Amino acid sequence: MTVTVRFAPSPTGNIHIGNARTALVNWIYAKKNGGNFILRYDDTDQVRSKQEYVDGIARDLKWLGIVPDRVEKQSARFEAYRKATDKLIADGLLYACYETAEELDKQRKRLAMRGKPPIYTRDGLNYSDEDLEKFKREGRTPHWRFLLPNHDGDPFSPKRTEVKWDDIVRGPQTIDLASMSDPVLVREDGSWLYTLPSVVDDIEMGVTHIIRGDDHVTNTGAQIAIFKAVGGTPPSFGHHNLLTTASGEGLSKRLGSLSLQSLAADHYEPMAVASLATLIGTSEAVEAVPDMASLIERYDITSITKSAAKFDVAEVDNLNAKLVHDLAYGAVQARLAAVNADGGEAFWNAVRGNINKVEEAADWWVKIENAKPIIDAEDREFISQAATVLPETPWDASTWGAWVNAVKELTGRKGKGLFMPLRKALTGDEHGPELAAILPLIGREKTLARLS
Ligand code: GLU
Repeated sequence: MTVTVRFAPSPTGNIHIGNARTALVNWIYAKKNGGNFILRYDDTDQVRSKQEYVDGIARDLKWLGIVPDRVEKQSARFEAYRKATDKLIADGLLYACYETAEELDKQRKRLAMRGKPPIYTRDGLNYSDEDLEKFKREGRTPHWRFLLPNHDGDPFSPKRTEVKWDDIVRGPQTIDLASMSDPVLVREDGSWLYTLPSVVDDIEMGVTHIIRGDDHVTNTGAQIAIFKAVGGTPPSFGHHNLLTTASGEGLSKRLGSLSLQSLAADHYEPMAVASLATLIGTSEAVEAVPDMASLIERYDITSITKSAAKFDVAEVDNLNAKLVHDLAYGAVQARLAAVNADGGEAFWNAVRGNINKVEEAADWWVKIENAKPIIDAEDREFISQAATVLPETPWDASTWGAWVNAVKELTGRKGKGLFMPLRKALTGDEHGPELAAILPLIGREKTLARLS
């Protein structure tokens, strides 16, 4: 049996780092097991779903290194959902309910006053002809609920009914079907919530593993019952912990700053984001993994811990810097050229250790090409003297050392008093890459000009 997973985002916004976690955990699981990854747009809500988000999700996944083996859209599969809906109605497992949101709210309050849990009372199974007439007169349309199999023939006497599964992340799980309301599968306007279409698709697309956030654990109890009701075999399930912001808030599509789109626009390396999105909240060390193949190799889904994991953008910066420091020139040449900073291999090797993002190399290229020298009044004379002993060309990595020795001898200066004025005059900055590497890039002519 080929392992088949699916990532099922709703295209109602840009995906964020938390969605990336779900996508990556699925992707890694599939690829580790020689399996397939289906990207399935959960776009049954036709009002909120937008093509721009469909395109955005595909773009963001590609950026992360995920290339789906198959792409599906739920909006193209309404017929299959209609069939499953009709079957459930015919089997007496899907029933019409006419309560408004306010009526349901009142019902929950009444239950709470009697110390009872807020579980739907199944009034929909018990309407009289007069009730139905009245709803019709009022122009109400029903929503439809799935009758959970938590009774022995009398749905008004539910009893403890355990659904169990061995979660591939969390281990053995049990949900009591008497602890929840019959889930609404179809809204008043006839549109489906994700639950039934998801089950129908998972069966028809041969999904073997449903891996998703642990906010879905309770749903899984009902979903396993729905799999059985529509004639399918429930697949394996895995629920990973969720990411929160550094201050502990849940991530939402409204948090633009943590969207993959903005992380990409901010020039983060996809592998810095992928490393953090997957390794955080596991028992493994969070470190910058250089490529997807290595991440697939080392990732173990069972290392995911139970509690939520805090995602701190500062950590992406650290991981990003580590990756950038190790990137070879060939891997970044086109990107350097795109920001007018392709100064060649020697340039890249000189600056990569001093930057956190590849594109920041552009700041150094500007300084090499066109620095604004800083020469303090008290260093004026020293700098002029240094210029007189500037070595002749050709220059190489030893030129700086030779020059500094000559300047030291001539001026008697040493340590910081010797280096810093030269660094400031040459680069216009107090910090930066090794001058031994930078000096030959600046070249003799520009160096002399900056010293004058
Ligand atoms: N669109 C649902 C979600 O993002 C899919 C849930 C699932 O993967 O089954 O929460």
